[in-house]
Amino acid sequence: MTRKIKIGNTEIGGGSRVKIQSMNTTDTADVGATLEQITKLAEAGCDITRVAIPHMEAALALKEITKWSPIPVVADIHFDYKLAIAACENGAAKIRINPGNIGDRENVRKVADCCKERGIPIRVGVNSGSVERSLIAKYGGVTAEAMTESAIGAVKILEDLEFEDIVISIKSSSPKLTIDTYRCLAAQCDYPLHVGVTEAGTLREGMIKSAVGIGTLLAEGIGDTIRVSLTADPVEEVRAAKMILRALDLDKGGITFVSCPTCGRTQVPLIELANKVESRICDLPYNIKVAVMGCAVNGPGEAREADIGLAGGKDEFLLFEKGETVRKIKTADIDAAVDEFVNEVIRVGKGQEADKPV
Ligand code: SF4
Repeated sequence: MTRKIKIGNTEIGGGSRVKIQSMNTTDTADVGATLEQITKLAEAGCDITRVAIPHMEAALALKEITKWSPIPVVADIHFDYKLAIAACENGAAKIRINPGNIGDRENVRKVADCCKERGIPIRVGVNSGSVERSLIAKYGGVTAEAMTESAIGAVKILEDLEFEDIVISIKSSSPKLTIDTYRCLAAQCDYPLHVGVTEAGTLREGMIKSAVGIGTLLAEGIGDTIRVSLTADPVEEVRAAKMILRALDLDKGGITFVSCPTCGRTQVPLIELANKVESRICDLPYNIKVAVMGCAVNGPGEAREADIGLAGGKDEFLLFEKGETVRKIKTADIDAAVDEFVNEVIRVGKGQEADKPV
């Protein structure tokens, strides 16, 4: 089991729930816009967010952002140790740096001392683009072993300064290399691991790469916090992360949505209805299973196993609740059918809100 570390009012590692992270896309110096986006991320289920700190104005903005943010805020720093120190002094709950790229040991020591004084952990973030040339030569390319040695080397810089409040990330845009590298790293240390496939791509491509990379590792018990990296609204990253966790029964609850692929038996506009229903209910906090099925062959069985479900007939759906047929919903006006079903989902879900343990 990994070590447990504290990040603001939450924890990572040591057997605690896998935490969902995302990263703001706002200009950090714009406090209002940044807080607005953090609120949306938190409402979607994000546990920890990260903001870019490219200049001192952004570091100073953290003071107000962290005062009002409902979730811990991590400062993302490259190259400039002074920004890391300013971020710590202005309320960052964690800082993300690569000790190998913020200058000489004296600068790293100043950052480590500042973090230690305030109980702020450091995420050592290494990725395939930051592996040292000597390691690439040694291993004949950017391999899992090269990336692991690079990360261990960066961690060693902090350990030599007697700083061990550390999370490690070691990302690649290749799910395969990400999986191999985290396996290699997990075998060599017990620091909590921040897992993700970096630069994974747009919504569709990125979700699949992340599901494969992150999902494989989580299924093996590797990973204490995750970020799905998408070229999309960061709220989508949180939704995707929740889906990955839910698929592995590692989530904190929420709606499980089941729908069939349709086939020649389908006589209702199921694809349209399923997509509209899913987008309306995906952020609801209820801990229930919802099924939307295309026909009466397999549909009623699956729908009956759900807390609430639909099974298609001829131009109508049968509405099931806890195994009992309740009534019919006509499909002549699909939006009205969606409204009707979503209202039923909310009615059934009320009182079955998901827990949010630490
Ligand atoms: S539930 Fe019915 S419509 Fe859907 S795939 Fe199965 S048989 Fe086809």
